[in-house]
Amino acid sequence: MGKSGKLVVISGPSGAGKSTIVAEVLRRTGAAFSVSATTRRPRPGEQDGREYRFVDRAAFERMIAAGELLEWAEVFGQYYGTPAGPVREALAAGRTVVLDIDVQGGLQVHRAMPGATFVLIVPPSAETLSGRLRGRGTESPESIARRLAQARKEIETAQESGVYNETVINDDLETAVRNVVRIVHRE
Ligand code: ADP
Ligand code: 5GP
Repeated sequence: MGKSGKLVVISGPSGAGKSTIVAEVLRRTGAAFSVSATTRRPRPGEQDGREYRFVDRAAFERMIAAGELLEWAEVFGQYYGTPAGPVREALAAGRTVVLDIDVQGGLQVHRAMPGATFVLIVPPSAETLSGRLRGRGTESPESIARRLAQARKEIETAQESGVYNETVINDDLETAVRNVVRIVHRE
């Protein structure tokens, strides 16, 4: 048996740049991405099985009941969860695994796997976050308002928990990517 891989949990408010950073970090490090299950609808360009496994509520509830999820949470009225099997298999094979999940989920992972690394991605300011959410063009005005209202709470919960020992400010993208790559590579 080889050495078990490293688990890296990335959280932060919606629009902070997690998906953008994670995609580049995966490309540069060869780490594996944990594809979450969700009941939300795919955005244009998203592919089932790549960004998410898109499932209906009944299927998601069966996964909860069967104990198949490492963690799950309801975010903005939709279920999101991490299938445990693929994560455990990749770690057992010695691979680094990256999770892009919300803070509620991160705290559940911390209870199950306290040795994981927890990284909080934050925007440089509330104005920048608002601009990025609008600029992404995927959310309705109501959805943007909900995401902004949740952002402050999400950051506070993460900071108060003491679980997120790494904070990366996503101002300049290249700097943020390099900081996360450094964290992923650190022993
Ligand atoms: P999240 O996954 O955290 O919800 P995204 O990765 O979708 O956030 O990023 C939100 C929007 O902000 C996207 O349109 C993305 O292209 C843009 N973005 C991400 N990081 C930066 C950055 N450092 N500078 C400018 N725009 C960024
Ligand atoms: P989005 O709908 O923008 O892709 O994601 C919304 C939020 O759900 C983000 O904060 C994202 O990190 C979180 N999320 C994505 N997958 C999971 C998951 O499997 N579990 C949990 N708890 N949160 C997730």
